[in-house]
Amino acid sequence: MSQLLNPPGRRELEQVLDRRLGDLPCLPAAITRLLELTREERDDITGLLRVLETEPAIAVRLLRLVNSAAYGVRRRIGALRDGIIILGFEAVRRLALELSVRSTIGHSRPGAAFNPLLYWRHAIAVASITRELARESATVDPETAYAAGLLHDIGKPLLESYGRISYSAFLDYLGPHPTLLIEQERRFIGLGHDTIGALYAAEINLPEQLIQAIRQHHQTSPENIGTSAAPLIALLSLADFIAWSHGYGSVAQNHPALLHPYVEQTLDLDSLDLEKLVRHMDHEVENAARLYHFTLPQPIKLRESLLRYNLTLGCLNSRLHHPEPRQETLLIPHHSLEQTAIISDTLHALRNDLGVERASLLLLDPRGRTLHLTACRNGVSDTPPHPDPIPLGPESGALLACLREKRKQRLSGQTPGERTLMQILGTKQISLIPVPGQHRMIGLLELDNGNSGRAIEDDTLGAAERIAQELGLGLEHAQLLEYSRQRASIDPLTELPNRSSLDTELKQRIAEARHGTRPLALAMLDIDRFKRFNDNFGHPAGDNVLKLIARTLQQTTRETNSVARYGGEEFTAILPGTTREQAIEYCQRLRRAIAKIGRLLTPRFPGEPLTISIGIALLHPTDTPATLLARADHALYRAKQRGRDRIELDDQ
Ligand code: GH3
Ligand code: MG
Ligand code: MG
Repeated sequence: MSQLLNPPGRRELEQVLDRRLGDLPCLPAAITRLLELTREERDDITGLLRVLETEPAIAVRLLRLVNSAAYGVRRRIGALRDGIIILGFEAVRRLALELSVRSTIGHSRPGAAFNPLLYWRHAIAVASITRELARESATVDPETAYAAGLLHDIGKPLLESYGRISYSAFLDYLGPHPTLLIEQERRFIGLGHDTIGALYAAEINLPEQLIQAIRQHHQTSPENIGTSAAPLIALLSLADFIAWSHGYGSVAQNHPALLHPYVEQTLDLDSLDLEKLVRHMDHEVENAARLYHFTLPQPIKLRESLLRYNLTLGCLNSRLHHPEPRQETLLIPHHSLEQTAIISDTLHALRNDLGVERASLLLLDPRGRTLHLTACRNGVSDTPPHPDPIPLGPESGALLACLREKRKQRLSGQTPGERTLMQILGTKQISLIPVPGQHRMIGLLELDNGNSGRAIEDDTLGAAERIAQELGLGLEHAQLLEYSRQRASIDPLTELPNRSSLDTELKQRIAEARHGTRPLALAMLDIDRFKRFNDNFGHPAGDNVLKLIARTLQQTTRETNSVARYGGEEFTAILPGTTREQAIEYCQRLRRAIAKIGRLLTPRFPGEPLTISIGIALLHPTDTPATLLARADHALYRAKQRGRDRIELDDQ
């Protein structure tokens, strides 16, 4: 919300770029005029001609293109008017637009990680899919959609050419497997390419709808709902996703693109003709490849199925990224707050109070794809007889109906899904009752009378329904509590385990090391002169640096070695099974990695580059967690005294 109410402006942009906004190269004036041409004017060739004639460089290139083999026009075309008549108004307008944008992108620099051709291929792919989607949806003008696709990532080449930290330097920092590129940009560069592109688009007076689309194509905050550009943003985000999932990303590293929430809200993804879309994209990109000389694709069917998979993934990602607000109040009193105890108690009570022979619980997986027979109370044990999840689909019959309609059901055995459950439980008289939570379905309660084959009576089912509702709320609350417990051990800024998890972890690791008489090392690291950094560049920039360091720490450290934010700008890494030499080697690697990031960041934060100091302590037989931590801290203190950006070992 705050980002929208108080969006970053010229000042923030000028901190990220090495020149003033007004000194950036303008897109040729023609582009603005081309975008402004109204529907009525589109039949008016003279209007288009007038625009192109003000931009002779573009007119010349346009004629060269029209006459190139790619367009297969037999007669040589010397006059723009003929070109427009032969190719059509829209085609010429689009070519002119492409040429104008292309002229701002710049050329490849040897060794640079940002490749303008890849970027351009991405722009064309996204533009053509966005336009195709716009044609299908009929909510957005297709040509505006095309322009939005062409321009959506314009912030990237701007950063590459004019960023204090170039886009190539950023990509070098990211390494081969980046996640959430946009968030990393905001931390490392200071602003995302979305904001940079939008500020630039506003500066050169592009239409408002395009500015919004550029600004918001990675905005995933649901508060933004309601902008008039929403349909365009949804199409653009989906097209961006499709292009990325087909290897037409704007940079060489592949990374999962997140779908904007508008996509799910405004489009019916199931009814999309993906094959047609992919064919269209291929066709357009092939044409562009001939014109702009870049290389191309793979078999189409494989890609279509990949796309299906990726669409699902994108929706899940988007939900994960924006979890529904959770209610933190206790909903109903239960004897226990552990899931297993709640389930076991409830099933036990159902059997005793209602006189049924068996009660079971089938838990719905969070994605709603399968039911898992979690517990089964039949007087003998709680052990479920079948460990495999039961898939949910069109053949699930009453199982699916019970979940969807939220009404009790008796199984008739007419569908394979129902027969599977009958087989697992060894009876044909099964009744199902929905178990609803406040926010989602939790699963199904199953009741039967075992081998006797007697059906469960209606009265009994009615009573069980009320219990199922309580069970649902109880389970949801238990899950909530588990979630809160996890959150309590995570530092919200860096998302690393916090001090209290470190204490627990360290105690356990020390016990394991003693038990197996294996070595253990503890590294404590601290950012050098961080106070000064905050004073010079502000606390928010300091927070971003903490996140960058946390990420590097995680990436440099093997999984078995747990890292934590100890407090402030201090972090720890527990290194089990690690000898003195290995610990030194690990810490040197970490120190060098941070120093490298520090150097990459100097254009943005001039002055002394960011570094860290590290203290290492090796576990002694008499150590407690507290003494081990104290010795690592002592070594760290020495590293600071001896000049910083170095490691010291506590050798006592
Ligand atoms: P030294 O090289 O001796 O470690 O110098 P220093 O300035 O890093 O050490 P000092 O302990 O004097 O200052 C630590 C600074 O870390 C103070 C505070 O501004 C900063 N800091 C601690 N926690 C946070 C945080 O969560 N965010 C930000 N931005 N800064 C923090
Ligand atoms: Mg983008
Ligand atoms: Mg410090």
